[in-house]
Amino acid sequence: MAIKINDIPPEGLTLELAQKLDLFDKGTDSAEFTAVLRIKPHGGGILHVAGHVQAATTLECSRCLTNFSHKIDTELNVDLAPVGSLGAGAEHELVPGELDIEFYQGDEFEPVEFVREQMLIAVPMVPLHSPECKGLCSVCGQDLNKAECGHQRNGPGEFGAFAALKDLLKK
Ligand SMILES: [Zn+2]
Ligand SMILES: [Zn+2]
Repeated sequence: MAIKINDIPPEGLTLELAQKLDLFDKGTDSAEFTAVLRIKPHGGGILHVAGHVQAATTLECSRCLTNFSHKIDTELNVDLAPVGSLGAGAEHELVPGELDIEFYQGDEFEPVEFVREQMLIAVPMVPLHSPECKGLCSVCGQDLNKAECGHQRNGPGEFGAFAALKDLLKK
C-alpha cells in the first residue's frame, strides 16, 4: 500500500506494519516483520524516516547451504529524497555519521519496499549458520558438519567456489 507524498501531513505520520514479505525474491512471502516508521516531511519532497524493524528471516549458510533462521532487529534513520532532487555532487558531500540518504521515484512512498531494503541491508553479506561451520567437502559435497568423508581437500577454511577462484588466479 503506497502512500502519496502529498498526503503526509506536515507534522508527520507514524506507520505500524506487521506482515510478511518476499525478502529475496523467491516467490514466497516468507519473511515476517514488524516495523514502526515515523515519516516526517522536510520540505522539497525530502522525507525523514526513523523507526525500528524486527523480522524473522530464513538465510542460507554460505558454506554448507543449510537454511537457518536469523532475526533482524534494526533501528533506522534515513532521509528519502526524490530522484534528481539533489545535485550530482550532493552525495559526495556526505560525511560518515551523517544520515543515510535514499531516493524514491514518483510521488509515492512504498513502506513495505522500504522495509525490505532495510532488512536486506541488515542481513549479513556472508551468512553462516554457525561461526564454526565446516562447510561442504570440495571433492564430494559432503556436509562436513555432519560427517567427515576423508577426502584430501585444500587447506582448512577453503571450500568450493573460493578454492576454485584461487586456482583461477594462479593460472
Ligand atoms: Zn553452515
Ligand atoms: Zn569428500
